[in-house]
Amino acid sequence: MELPPKIATPRLNEKLCSHCGLCMGDAWPVQESLQSCVFNTGWLGKHEERLFGRKRDPHDDDELAFGISLRRFNARMKRPVDGAQWGGIITRIALGAIETGLVEGVLTLHGSMMHPKAALATTPSAVLEGRGNKPVLSPTLTALHDAWRKGLKKVLVIGAPCHVHAIRDFHARNPHLEGMELFVVGIPCTDNLEADHLRWVLSLISRSPESITSMEFMQDYRVHLRHAGGDTEKIPFFCLPPDVVRPGVFANSCMSCFDYTNGLADLTVGYFGAPFSRDWKLQWMTIRTDRGERLFELISKEVETAPEQKRGDAERSVKAGLETTLEPLLYPQSMLKRKPMPRLAGNALCLVGQVLGPFGTEFARYSVHIHALRNYCFVRLNNPEKFDLLVPEHVQVLAKRYGLDTALNSRTGS
Ligand SMILES: Cc1cc2nc3c(=O)[nH]c(=O)nc-3n(C[C@H](O)[C@H](O)[C@H](O)COP(=O)(O)OP(=O)(O)OC[C@H]3O[C@@H](n4cnc5c(N)ncnc54)[C@H](O)[C@@H]3O)c2cc1C
Ligand code: SF4
Ligand code: SF4
Repeated sequence: MELPPKIATPRLNEKLCSHCGLCMGDAWPVQESLQSCVFNTGWLGKHEERLFGRKRDPHDDDELAFGISLRRFNARMKRPVDGAQWGGIITRIALGAIETGLVEGVLTLHGSMMHPKAALATTPSAVLEGRGNKPVLSPTLTALHDAWRKGLKKVLVIGAPCHVHAIRDFHARNPHLEGMELFVVGIPCTDNLEADHLRWVLSLISRSPESITSMEFMQDYRVHLRHAGGDTEKIPFFCLPPDVVRPGVFANSCMSCFDYTNGLADLTVGYFGAPFSRDWKLQWMTIRTDRGERLFELISKEVETAPEQKRGDAERSVKAGLETTLEPLLYPQSMLKRKPMPRLAGNALCLVGQVLGPFGTEFARYSVHIHALRNYCFVRLNNPEKFDLLVPEHVQVLAKRYGLDTALNSRTGS
């Protein structure tokens, strides 16, 4: 694989755009799509109010971190979908929706891990082709233009939070989608990046970057890289080279993102709130709406479910890790002198984390908090004029809880 040149960072003037695809089609004028871009409308807040009749309660710890929901639980496919990212719950739901006629088309992604292509899938085989993650910015919503041109009236979209925000807003405000019934399956999403940047990161961290078929940031505090030959490389988070966590590597849009758990989806299908499963099959479900219940019902006989589990104290771990997490933003120069932690020490820390650290939904809460706080800092330092638009109220409550403004004020001298 030809490796991209070392990327120029920071790229803090880069336009806020996650390549969601809504303004990349030509069925209607670009300006109409841009009105619904999440970087012009903001995260959650009024969108949440429109969908649920209220904003999330920042004093309810679960709602603050995971969003408004009807119920949450762990789930495992009795017969996993071969080639899916985890057990394939998303692919199976989308297949059920097409096979039963609940929808006429599914907005998904075809192409490879590094080259995702928006796809309108109208047959079971086209839905199946979409399985597996494309861990890069992906233009799913370009396929909405195709669905509208074809006159589809019942559509399922599978999307990351930025896709879901844009389509919910467009659906509510734009006459083009009047009469279109929308079903939304969401994935949790954070720290995404452009394909060239991912190639560069993998070239720094993997012994064989060209044979990687999928990757995940796991609950055992390691990045797991699966290779075509079947083996899995595991790299402790603590051993990642400082270069890969500096600003400008993850997209600016993803550093300005405040909806990790996809709070506007009808249901969110992830893994990080479930206990770590070595076989990548135990998934974590959040059903948010009646439509989410209808979607889950399509596969309810095909999955085993179990109540959530939790142990430990997310907030204590966030406090312990916050300074290290914010260092690349607050003191970028100091990162130049840093060396990655040796593997032995990194693996020992992973073990300590697994035994004493947050587990189950506490792990998910830890991850949601720390990413929200980091992104709060990023926007305050690099895009202060967009702060009020982008940072939702509940994240401002969270930042106060951790005394984040004090740390920022001492850095900026304000
Ligand atoms: C960049 C990224 C970061 C993620 N981070 C987390 C996380 O931190 N915690 C967590 O619990 N889960 C995360 N997920 C979701 C998780 O990896 C699985 O996608 C999810 O659990 C569904 O698994 P599945 O086997 O049911 O999916 P499958 O049945 O394999 O279906 C996956 C579906 O997701 C769609 N998809 C793939 N890549 C993208 C993309 N980039 N944008 C939009 N849609 C896409 C595919 O088109 C397909 O329809 C992330 C996913 C991505 C792409
Ligand atoms: S995020 Fe989506 S709608 Fe916004 S500018 Fe980028 S492609 Fe267009
Ligand atoms: S991190 Fe946020 S902005 Fe980036 S791709 Fe995921 S949902 Fe979109």
